[in-house]
Amino acid sequence: MNSLRFEALNSLVKNNAQNEPFVSDSEAQFAQNVFNDLALQRSLNQQAYDEISKAIFKGSKISRALADQIAAAMKSWARAKGATHYTHWFQPLTGATAEKHESFFDLSDNATAIERFDGSQLVQQDPDASSFPSGGIRNTFEARGYSAWDPTSPAFIYGKTLCIPTIFVSYTGEALDYKTPLLRSSSALDKAATDVAKYFDKNTQKVYATLGWEQEYFLIDRSLAASRPDLILTGRTLMGHESSKGQQLNDHYFGSIPKRALAFMQELEYQSLMLGIPVKTRHNEVAPAQFELAPIFEEVNLSVDHNALLLDIMSKIAERHNFMVLLHEKPFTGINGSGKHNNWSLKTNTGVNLLSPGKTPMNNLQFLTFFINTIVAVLNHESLLRASIVSASNELRLGTDEAPLPIISVFIGEQLTAVLNNLEQVSEGKLSPQEKTDLKLNVIGKIPEILLDNTDQNRTSPFAFTGNKFEFRAVGSKTNCAKPMTVLNSIVAEQLITFKKKVDQHLKNPKMKKDDAIFNELRDSIKYIRTILFEGDGYSEAWIKQAKKRGLSPTTSTPDALQAYVAPKSISMFHTLDVFSKRELEARVQVDLEQYTHTLQIEGRTLGDIARNHIIPTAIQYQNTLIDNVKGLKEIYGATYKTHAKEQMVLIERISGHIAQINTGVNDMIEARKKANTIEDTAAKANAYHAQVKVYFDSIRYHCDKLELLVDNSIWPLAKYRELLFSR
Ligand code: ADP
Ligand code: MG
Repeated sequence: MNSLRFEALNSLVKNNAQNEPFVSDSEAQFAQNVFNDLALQRSLNQQAYDEISKAIFKGSKISRALADQIAAAMKSWARAKGATHYTHWFQPLTGATAEKHESFFDLSDNATAIERFDGSQLVQQDPDASSFPSGGIRNTFEARGYSAWDPTSPAFIYGKTLCIPTIFVSYTGEALDYKTPLLRSSSALDKAATDVAKYFDKNTQKVYATLGWEQEYFLIDRSLAASRPDLILTGRTLMGHESSKGQQLNDHYFGSIPKRALAFMQELEYQSLMLGIPVKTRHNEVAPAQFELAPIFEEVNLSVDHNALLLDIMSKIAERHNFMVLLHEKPFTGINGSGKHNNWSLKTNTGVNLLSPGKTPMNNLQFLTFFINTIVAVLNHESLLRASIVSASNELRLGTDEAPLPIISVFIGEQLTAVLNNLEQVSEGKLSPQEKTDLKLNVIGKIPEILLDNTDQNRTSPFAFTGNKFEFRAVGSKTNCAKPMTVLNSIVAEQLITFKKKVDQHLKNPKMKKDDAIFNELRDSIKYIRTILFEGDGYSEAWIKQAKKRGLSPTTSTPDALQAYVAPKSISMFHTLDVFSKRELEARVQVDLEQYTHTLQIEGRTLGDIARNHIIPTAIQYQNTLIDNVKGLKEIYGATYKTHAKEQMVLIERISGHIAQINTGVNDMIEARKKANTIEDTAAKANAYHAQVKVYFDSIRYHCDKLELLVDNSIWPLAKYRELLFSR
C-alpha cells in the first residue's frame, strides 16, 4: 500500500538529519533589515530627522517634501541591501497580511529604464481592493481602497522586498483593516491616560499601551500532514482517535526541544531578529508537538505588526524544514489548544509603567488608579472584550483543556484583593490625617513587596493581573492582536475619561485634596468591580451559575458573542472616542459572521468528503477481507465455522453499523447545510451553522474514530494522532 501516510512515515527517518545553520548573534543581527530610527537618523539631515521624529511623537501630518526625502533615503538603503521591489504591507480583515509588490524599476518618458520611488509611492497606493472583505462598506462601483503609510511602524526588508507598513481604508475613509482602528484607539487612550497621569506627574506628555504576546503553535511533519485533507483545508483535524499517549505525563512541557524543531526555531529567530522582532523566549508547550515563542514587549502598534509578520514568516520557514505550522486554536481534540496571551500595560513617555507600583505612596496611588480603572473598564464592556476574540476556531478552544472559559472575569490574586478590601474601608469625603498615614504606610505602602510574587497559577482565568501588566488569555493563536487591543485601549480610555471627570468634580470643593478625591473615586469603584473579580476554578459548575447570577454573559456561540460590537453602548463609546463609526462596526460584524459561516461550511464539506471518500471505502475494504476470511473458514470447517468466525462476524457487523451511522450523519448534515444556505440574513445564517450544522460534526467523527480503531492499521489512509504528534 503506497499511501501518502506510509510514504511519509518511511521518509521520516531520513528527514531527521537536519543541520543547524542559523546561530543567533542577537546584537549583530537585530533589526539589520529594518529602516528604524537609527537608519532614519543616519540617512536624513538633522532638520528632516527632527521633523519626522516630532510628527511620529505627535501623530501629526508629514509634508510632501519630507515624504520625498524619506522615500529617497529608504530607497537607497533598501537598494544597498539588495531589495528590488517595494510593497505597501497591510492587515486586511481576512486575518492574513497583504502585499502587492511593485518593482523600483520604471520607464521614463523616452522609454529608458529608471528607478522610481518617491514620496507619493511611499505615502499612498491604491491596490484594487474589491477582493478583500469589507462587510458591505465598499460598493462595487467604488472598489478602490487606499493604503497609506504608517510612519510609526518602520519599513523592513523581507526577501528582496521593501515592505512599508500601511493602513488600509476605503475611498470614503472607512477602515478596511485592523491597524486603522488600533491607531485611533491608541490615540484616544493616549489622551485619556495622559490627562489622568498628570495628576501624578505633570511632565507626562504621552501614554502608550505596551503589548507582549506569547505565541503558541503546533509543529508537525509536512509530509504526514499531506495525507490529511482536513489539515490542508481547515488547519485542524476533523477526526482522529486520541493517541494512547497524549499529554498525561507532562513530559513535553519545558522538556528538551526536539532537534528538528530546534533547527526550525533557530532559523525563525534569526529571521525575526533581522526583522527587528525582539524574540526572547522559546519552549515546548504542554501538548505534544506544541511550542511557544515570546518576544520582549513593545509599543502596541509595533508589537501587533511584529506578530502579524511573525505568523507570515513562520509558515514560510516551516516549509523549508518540511514542517507545517498549525496556528489553529484547536488542531487536535483531547489535548491543549493554542492561545496567544496578550500581556498589556501602559507606559509613559517618561518611561514609567503605570501598572507597576513605585517607591512612594503617590506612585502606588497612581498604580492603583490605573489598575482599578482597567478592571472597571473590563466590567463595563466584558461582552465586547469577548467579541474581540471569538471565532469559529477559538470557539473550539475556549473552555477546554486549560483554556479560559468564554466568560470574562478578572483575576488579581489574594494580596491585591486584601489591598482592595482595606481601601474599601476608607471613609467618605476628606480623609483624616490618621487615616491617610495608616493607608499610606500599611496599605498602599506595602504594594511593591506583595506584588513581587503575584503570579496566577490558575491558568484558566481569561484576564489576569500578573505583577506589572494584565494578561488577556482568551485570545486565540490565530487572532490578529489588533482586535482585542483596539477594544482594550478603547474601553480603558473611556473609563479614564469618566474617572477624570468625577475626580475633577470632587476637586471643585476647595477643601478636597487631590489624593482624597482619587481615594474617594477608587473606593466607589472597588465596590463596583466585585462583580467581575473571580479567583476560583473557572471550570466549576458553580462558577458558571454564579457568573450568570452576577449578570455576566456566558455564551458559547460566536455569532451571539459578536453582537456585542453593535450593542448601543459599544456604538456610543467607539463613536465618542472616534475609533469606529457605527457603519464600520456593522461591517466588521458582517465580516466576522461571514467568516464563521464559511469556516463551518468548509469544515462540513471536508468532513463529509473524508468520511465518504476515505473512511467508508477503507472500512469496506477491510470488511471485505473479513468476509473473505469468514468464507474461507466456512470452506475449511463446514457447519461449525461459526465458532471460529465469531469475532470476525461481530467486526463485520460493527463496521456496517458505523458505516450506516456515518452515512446518515453526512446526509443529515448536508440537508442542514442546504437549509442554512437559503437564509439571507448573515447573522441568522451564522446562527444556523452554529446550532444546526456544527452539531453533526461530533457524531460523524465519533463513528470515523471508532472505525480507526477497528480497521487494519496498514490500510488506514490518514496519518494518526500518535504519528502527527510524536513523530520526530
Ligand atoms: P509568563 O509567566 O506569562 O511567561 P513573563 O514575565 O515571561 O510571564 O512575560 C510574558 C510576556 O509578558 C512577555 O511577552 C513579555 O514581553 C510581556 N511583558 C512583560 N512586561 C510587560 C509590560 N509591561 N507590558 C506588556 N507586556 C509585558
Ligand atoms: Mg503568559
